[in-house]
Amino acid sequence: MFQFIMKLNMLITGGTGMVGQSIKKMQENIPFNCYFLGSKDCDLTNYEETKKLFSKIKPDYVIHLAACVGGLYKNMNNKVEMFEKNILINTHVLKCCYEFNVKKCVCCLSTCIFPDKITYPIDETMLHNGPPHDSNDAYAYAKRMLEKHCEFYNNNFNTNFVCVIPTNIYGTHDNYNLEDSHVIPGLIHKCYLAKLSKEKFVVKGTGKPLRQFIYSNDLAKLILWVASSYKSKESIILSVGEKEEVSIKEVAIIIAKIYDYEENIEFDTKFSDGQYKKTASNKKLIENIGEFEFTPIQVGVQESIQWFISNYNNCRK
Ligand code: NAP
Ligand code: GDP
Repeated sequence: MFQFIMKLNMLITGGTGMVGQSIKKMQENIPFNCYFLGSKDCDLTNYEETKKLFSKIKPDYVIHLAACVGGLYKNMNNKVEMFEKNILINTHVLKCCYEFNVKKCVCCLSTCIFPDKITYPIDETMLHNGPPHDSNDAYAYAKRMLEKHCEFYNNNFNTNFVCVIPTNIYGTHDNYNLEDSHVIPGLIHKCYLAKLSKEKFVVKGTGKPLRQFIYSNDLAKLILWVASSYKSKESIILSVGEKEEVSIKEVAIIIAKIYDYEENIEFDTKFSDGQYKKTASNKKLIENIGEFEFTPIQVGVQESIQWFISNYNNCRK
């Protein structure tokens, strides 16, 4: 009998960003027509534009990564922007996923949106059990609403919207801006400049806070696994294990060693440390996926530094 196999469409919002570009590297393993889009293709804060995009692409699957993203200091200084843009983007994307009958939408939260005062390790059930740390409450509340919004759609209309919760992500195609970025890309850029000008490599805060970091290429694999094989609609933390947690000081040393600039690290304690730790459990992930080999942080940071130096003129910074 004649078999008509039609390729499905997958829309990756935030496709020009760090995680989107990591998924793009794996494109040949994805049996879909993939559309990796950024804000120049469609401003998702605008509902009419979002609707036009969905009616043009007619996505069967959506990986929703687009967001107003930043490190601790961007979150502290731009609360209205972090809240409004994320609320708008998420509302428009989910509404269109529903209106255009998307089969599955995978949305992205973050472990930094969990309550500040909490027992460790953090698990998926704890997301709404108290206020977030005040340094990033605007981003956190907007992202928390994304989880509830998915739940309401799933309950009312039997959609298949699921949230993943990654820890602090780093990798190639990151935002390497000195003020707004997350800690790893910020320090990669700073150490590069410090060595060039033979100045101190200044790390903000005390260096004592603890973080779990995930390499963007690893996260891309896990997000695709969620899209294809994770059958539940309950949120799932995508993280390295608790033993992989490192201090900011350790991260600074890893970066400085790669640049051979280790003797020049200095901590500027005038800056806030943010939340001390956000230790998350990846028990649910491992129970569901079986085994997963995470890239060691030294390897991921080395690859990120190589990419940053090779793309210095054109990367986001
Ligand atoms: P990123 O590199 O900053 O990329 C953000 C993406 O969103 C870009 O493609 C950007 O497009 C797009 N975007 C922003 N505003 C938009 C708008 N108004 N309309 C359409 N697209 C818009 O982000 P990422 O680090 O890959 O993060 C991916 C996801 O993971 C986000 O949902 C983020 O909240 C989450 N997350 C990130 C971290 C982290 O450490 N980075 C940790 C946990 C969770 P243009 O570049 O073209 O403007
Ligand atoms: P978080 O994990 O959500 O808190 O976000 P970040 O990736 O911004 O990490 C913040 C932690 O790194 C805080 O303890 C900061 O004090 C520390 N840190 C040290 N230097 C920098 C820097 O240049 N940029 C950023 N974003 N954080 C830094």
